[in-house]
Amino acid sequence: MKYSLLICSFILLLFSCKKSEKEPLETVAPAKIVNFKSITGVENLLADTEPTAVMVTRSIVLRDPLKIELSGTKEVKLINFTLKTIKDVHVFAKLTADAESVELFKIDSITPLVTFKLPLSIVDKELQMTDFSKAVFSVVVDDPFYKRLNAMKIPWKLSFRKSQEDVGNWYRMNPLHARESLVMFTNLAYLFSQPATQEAFMAYEGLTENDGTTLLTKEKKEAVYQDILTRANIETGLVRNVSGLGGGNLVAGAEYVLMRHYNKNAEEVIVHELGHALGFGHSSNMTYASSSKAFHLAMRPLVNKLLADREYPYWDYRMLNTYNKYIDMTGDYLREGKNPDGSRHNATKYDY
Ligand SMILES: [Zn+2]
Repeated sequence: MKYSLLICSFILLLFSCKKSEKEPLETVAPAKIVNFKSITGVENLLADTEPTAVMVTRSIVLRDPLKIELSGTKEVKLINFTLKTIKDVHVFAKLTADAESVELFKIDSITPLVTFKLPLSIVDKELQMTDFSKAVFSVVVDDPFYKRLNAMKIPWKLSFRKSQEDVGNWYRMNPLHARESLVMFTNLAYLFSQPATQEAFMAYEGLTENDGTTLLTKEKKEAVYQDILTRANIETGLVRNVSGLGGGNLVAGAEYVLMRHYNKNAEEVIVHELGHALGFGHSSNMTYASSSKAFHLAMRPLVNKLLADREYPYWDYRMLNTYNKYIDMTGDYLREGKNPDGSRHNATKYDY
């Protein structure tokens, strides 16, 4: 028996050797590969030096943060809002409405928060005479991290309040706040995109209507969750005097909320503000807890698990390291950071 087994494996081994020799030849020429390092004119997005007027024009689809568009007639512009380097970006063009997309080129990698243009003349010879003026461009990112973003159900497009001034309960936000917002809302979109989160929300008992006593029915909870899943836009800003502000499409937190969202048990403010955006007031425990029941408490075990398992797209505070990087910088950086003498300025009494 042992002897025959040995022979079998020997034959299999031979067979597999033969097979690898006969691998089919590539029939389609591989697309041209562009080395990211060779690209000139790369500009940073949401950099510290970005003017507020430019920052507020940014809008980011959290599950698809790499955009491509035609620039003039001879170039394409890529705009990448990922916070991690992505690999294997395939650029396609659909030349007419019923044509198949053709792959123009592949970019080996793209670093975080950058935009750049590429001339269409770089495509391979057989595509050189093509008229791209009416083409629709698209990208496919063959990167496991990017695919996880792509797989999110939630279509939220994140934007920043147009009005950026130190007035009332608002601070003027800086690009560092915009970058942390991008992290926090990407993770939030990831949380609510999980079937387990929806199941936990539906199974959680004790959530109330705005009268504070009537329990949310199954139908109402389904409608609330549907609102989370289908909301197109989320607008954010930076809050002072209070911990957060929410309503309509606005979901905003104080600076400390943006610095602590990587921590466990730190979801309360932002989930509270999301509760407002979903149409609930302070009498409902979709905002403040009552009898130890709350929307944020329903979410807490899931948030903590995603953090503990390092499953969030952006789980590591050291990636941006905002707090540590800016705590000793004054003025236009952390709005509640240190004064030159080490004391903190603009210390807020948080209440929301
Ligand atoms: Zn509130």
